[in-house]
Order: sequence, then structure tokens, then C-alpha cells
Amino acid sequence: MSKADPDLAKIVSEIAQEMSAREDRGRVASYIPELANVDPARFGMALIDLDGHVHLGGDADVPFSIQSISKVFTLTLALGRIGDRLWQKVGREPSGNRFNSIIQLEHEMGVPRNPFINAGAIAVTDVILSGRAPRETLGEILRFMQFLADDETIFIDHEVAASEKRTGFRNAALANYMKSFGVIDNPVDNTLGVYFHHCAMAMSCRQLARAGLFLANNGRNPVSGHSVVSSERARRINALMMTCGHYDGSGEFAYRVGLPGKSGVGGGILAIAPGRASIAVWAPGLDETGNSHLGRIALEELTKRTGWSVFGH
Ligand code: GLU
Repeated sequence: MSKADPDLAKIVSEIAQEMSAREDRGRVASYIPELANVDPARFGMALIDLDGHVHLGGDADVPFSIQSISKVFTLTLALGRIGDRLWQKVGREPSGNRFNSIIQLEHEMGVPRNPFINAGAIAVTDVILSGRAPRETLGEILRFMQFLADDETIFIDHEVAASEKRTGFRNAALANYMKSFGVIDNPVDNTLGVYFHHCAMAMSCRQLARAGLFLANNGRNPVSGHSVVSSERARRINALMMTCGHYDGSGEFAYRVGLPGKSGVGGGILAIAPGRASIAVWAPGLDETGNSHLGRIALEELTKRTGWSVFGH
């Protein structure tokens, strides 16, 4: 089987077997018990191509905490709400700092570097919240995910959200700091409440890959036929995922995998192979930049075996 016509079913199942057998698993996030108690031996992978063919490996149907991967979808909603005016509140440059850094915010007068670091995602959430009640906003975000994945079983894990709130002092500091510069319009507690809850959505690799499929197909879900965003917007969201989707590990991810991707501290990664497929992986152990250790390696293996990197074969 040549790279031009890869046997995706075989590749996905082989990668899942290889990843399950590896001993280097990274370290699971320990800041809340719900993540600290996840078994690091888990590994799941789902790849859905533009014809709607689904290829699954390992724990592809086990829901996990998607955490920061939700930021791709809140960004999509916020752009839908206020379009390019969003860029007055948040930048589009990679940060080179840790995901929850506060230093840069002071230099940049409370305007976060990009929509995927915590400060940026909180500012994006604030935009979606404006003009609505928190509960309504949360319902809108959840329904958007269910619509994209065509799956009404997707849910918010309220225990995860409560733990995030209990321990989220740094996020509260970021939000209050931005509020002092007028970047946050709503009461900080409301914005943070919605942020913690959308990070606490639980989804499987299969559901996540399906939800991301519109980004692989110029903004239109090729299975349902629904147009989600324009092709230009899809291209731009992909660009931000490539440059900013892995915090200060974004350069390394581009170098090794070469696909737009967004990671979450729950160990998930959503990766987009434009014109080809949407891929979700889940391996709970993280590397030192807070990104899934085996998730990244699995995607690196995928682009090696398929030649799908956006930078060439
Ligand atoms: N809810 C997490 C936080 O804000 C998300 C971080 C992540 O997934 O990287 O701390």
C-alpha cells in the first residue's frame, strides 16, 4: 500500500497497539482528582475521512475530559458571533509561554496573545456570554458540540467543572487582570463559570473526530452536508491550531506532526489533516509542556505512515 493510498484501518489499529504497549506514558495531570485518577494505560484513536469512513483504535469510544480542545469550538462560536471584531480582544500570535502564564498579559495591556492560551480562551468565552445568561451560554456551547458530532449523548462533567472552580485561582487571576483592562465585559465569576464548564465536556475520540470534521473540509461537514463556517474561516482556525494549539509545545508539534492540532490537559488531541481527515487521540499522560505524550507520538506516526503533513510527504 503506497503513501498515496494508505490503508487507514491498518495504520490506526497498528498505532493503537503500539501505543498501548509502550512504557513511556508521561504523567497524568494532578491538579484535580478527576484527572489525577485517570488510568495512564488508556489509549484511544479515531480517524474519520471525508467520505465519512471511521477508523477506530483502542479506547476510541471512552469519554474523557476534553479540556482545552473545547477552545477550538468556542473560538468558532465567538467568530460566528462577532466576526473579526474578536481580534480586538485577543491576538493571533504564538505565546512561547506556559498555558496559564500571566507575565505576557501585563506587557500586552491585558490583551491575551492568542485564543488558545487560558487567558485568550477566557476572553473568547466572555464574548459568547455577552447578552446571555451563563446557563444559556453553556447550553449553546454543548448543543453546538452535539450538533457537530451528531451525537446528543455528549455531556458536561459537573464534578470536573466544580473541581476546576475550586482550584482555578490562576484562571481567576487571569480573568480579573483582564477585567482591569476592560477586556472582560461580564462579571468575572460568570465568565469563569462558563469557561470551567465548557472545559469539562466529556467526549470520546470518535465524537471529537466527528466534531472536527468540518475543519478538514473547508468548513462544511462532508457527512451531514452542514456548512459550519466559510472555507476562509476554517483555514484560519486551522492556522491558529497549528501555531498556538499546543502552548509552548506548538513548534515541536508542527515540527514532528505537521498538522493543525489542539491539545487538552485531559490527554486528548484533535488534529486536522485538511482535505483528508479529522483525527482524535487520547492518552492521559502528559509531557513537560502539558500536552499528551503518546498522543503526539501517535500523530507523528500517523503522518509518517500516511505522508499527510501539511508541509509535504
Ligand atoms: N481547564 C484547564 C485550565 O484552564 C484547561 C487547561 C488545558 O486543557 O490545557 O486550567
